[in-house]
Amino acid sequence: MTPDIPDASSLDPTDWPAFRQLAHRMIDDVIDGMEAIRDRPAWQPVPEVVRQSFEEPLPRTARPLPEVYEQVLQTILPYPRGNVHPRYWGWVNGSGLPVAMLAEFLAAAMNSSVGAFETAPTMVEAQVLRWLKDMLDWPADSSAVLTSGCSMSNLIALTVARNAKGDDVRRKGVAGSGRPTFYGSSETHSSIQKAIEILGLGAASFRRVPVDDDRCIRVDVLAEMIAGDRAAGLKPVCVIGNAGTVLTGAVDPLDRVADFCAAEDLWFHVDGAFGALAWIVPGLKPLLAGLERADSLAFDLHKWMYLPYAVACVFVRDDAAHHAAFAMAPSYLSRLPAGPASYPVSFPDRSIELTRPFRALKVWMALQTHGLDAFAAAIARNVAQARRFAAGVARSPELELSATGPLNVVCFRFRPASAALTPEQEDDLNRNMLMQLQLSGEAVPSHGLVDGRFVLRIAITNHRTTDADLDLLLNRCGEIGRTLMAGASAGGDRRTA
Ligand SMILES: *Cc1c(COP(=O)(O)O)cnc(C)c1O
Repeated sequence: MTPDIPDASSLDPTDWPAFRQLAHRMIDDVIDGMEAIRDRPAWQPVPEVVRQSFEEPLPRTARPLPEVYEQVLQTILPYPRGNVHPRYWGWVNGSGLPVAMLAEFLAAAMNSSVGAFETAPTMVEAQVLRWLKDMLDWPADSSAVLTSGCSMSNLIALTVARNAKGDDVRRKGVAGSGRPTFYGSSETHSSIQKAIEILGLGAASFRRVPVDDDRCIRVDVLAEMIAGDRAAGLKPVCVIGNAGTVLTGAVDPLDRVADFCAAEDLWFHVDGAFGALAWIVPGLKPLLAGLERADSLAFDLHKWMYLPYAVACVFVRDDAAHHAAFAMAPSYLSRLPAGPASYPVSFPDRSIELTRPFRALKVWMALQTHGLDAFAAAIARNVAQARRFAAGVARSPELELSATGPLNVVCFRFRPASAALTPEQEDDLNRNMLMQLQLSGEAVPSHGLVDGRFVLRIAITNHRTTDADLDLLLNRCGEIGRTLMAGASAGGDRRTA
């Protein structure tokens, strides 16, 4: 008995006109949603019945696409993270540009893996990398590659640093390289520690340097730590400078760290996940002085370039060191004198991925469509909005400014002068205030601990935010805080009665 051989062509639409019609409807639905984004909640919980729908078992048989799409409309599209909304400022999540959404669609249609191959997508990525270097004043002959995020960019850069300062690490592993040690401020992002762990060096090889009152690395203490570690037999290899820490947006004194690294023969890496983008605003560039001197720079494009996930970049000044860390030359990937395999650029030789998506198209189309100046204006506006909001918090008798850097991040909490609350009560009140605000769908700040205390935190990487949106946040925090206080004291009265 011959088994049934399914018709492979059934994986393509059998009725192209119907497919086309439904595709048009999807575009209409999505664009309707984008136009009306303000009328939607910034976030909403996923209802129980929807949650349960994701427990359905593996489908073995076909369902009509319109029916599947109906399920997407009902159960998926209404429950996004919320960062497309003008009043979402949680964590560091970019808002997403509509033109880039279209680019994603076109890139998926091409379905090109962007490796070492003569294709337009390969050339577009090469062009985008040239533009990004130009944008951040990096030398044209430095190396660069697009990645899935700044975590990946940091991992790539620290791999290059480890190998460049090690002893034939690719052949011998890390065992022969002494005890490679990395340094960064205590505010450094968790992805740096994760990278160092993945590199096989252990979390103890990341040394956290204390910060000053502005939450910037203490270069004097860094120098003492490195001298001490050398004396103790460790091998300092790299200092990570922060261009915008995740919690408060602090910018380390990059010029001084660069001087120090040059004098001490250390690799200087900058984590500029979102902050590096401030470089394109003439008024903000001086804050980042020294960024252009780093040995490697990691930054996201899906945060402060407002592009949809996932796209980031890493620059490595020394092209040879970058390739030495990642290049592979098996026969099946070798270059030929002509044809598609003759292309001289190999992105897999600069990164971990071999098969890579066409991330560059959304960057290319967004830059072409809007021009760099529009991005500079949007970033400058976000910084002005953060400063205006911080000033509003400082003026408010019930809110306290907990921390703010020179960029787009503000940490604050509800703390009326009149109320005598214990620190624990205050933390509880602020936690409840934040959750109530998020559940209301009105706005989404996130949270963190500043000096051990619970704070609300906004990071404005949102091109849709207006001043009025932030005024609403300020007012609602006051109102919710007051209501919670009244409730708490009423509850307290009951207990004492
Ligand atoms: C977000 C962030 C990262 C990690 O970037 P991903 O794109 O989330 O991988 C690293 N460093 C800082 C400072 C960040 O804000």
